[in-house]
Amino acid sequence: MVGTPLLLHACCGPCSLEPVRLLREEGFAPTICWTNPNIQPVAEHERRLNTLLGWANDVARVPVIVAADDRDAWERAVAPARFDRVRRCRACYALRLAESCRVARERGFSYISTTLAVSPYQLFDDCSELLVLLAKHHGLTPVVRDFRAQYPVATQRSRELGMYRQNYCGCRFSAAEAAIERHEARDARKAAKRAARLARETKD
Ligand code: SF4
Repeated sequence: MVGTPLLLHACCGPCSLEPVRLLREEGFAPTICWTNPNIQPVAEHERRLNTLLGWANDVARVPVIVAADDRDAWERAVAPARFDRVRRCRACYALRLAESCRVARERGFSYISTTLAVSPYQLFDDCSELLVLLAKHHGLTPVVRDFRAQYPVATQRSRELGMYRQNYCGCRFSAAEAAIERHEARDARKAAKRAARLARETKD
């Protein structure tokens, strides 16, 4: 693919769709870098990686570098923050983006970006700040883009492509948080239905 080479850290297949398309439109030739030691359990990690590889090879024709997934480093640097979301996610972004920057330097890229900027569930400002800091530290140019407006399109396109879509960010803490949110939403729906039924019965 013709364009300015750019290494794009990718967290999963669905989140890669729009960044790859839009960066190509800007004149970049993205190569994806997979480094996500945050994804638990291992079967989920493999499922997300295989979804990404299938789309990258068969549909997008974008090269993928599968870099190191240092799970021990993630446990040391990130897990101690447990349910302190901001501290935990910042450490997680830093670990993954630092490895992406290392790979970019090793492979001769000058530009770096991340698909984390597409999900409204991520901490966009923290992630962008770390991308800039780490890129500069490694002598790279950060390509900071806010892809969040494309999230609904990415969701639709990934459904049409039959891609696997996860319902939590990746780590065991996010899986627990997402499960609690789903339970709370279900309880709220049930309570609303009960209130509506009571209101109807009182009226009758
Ligand atoms: S919620 Fe996502 S970004 Fe935050 S620590 Fe867990 S896996 Fe990493």
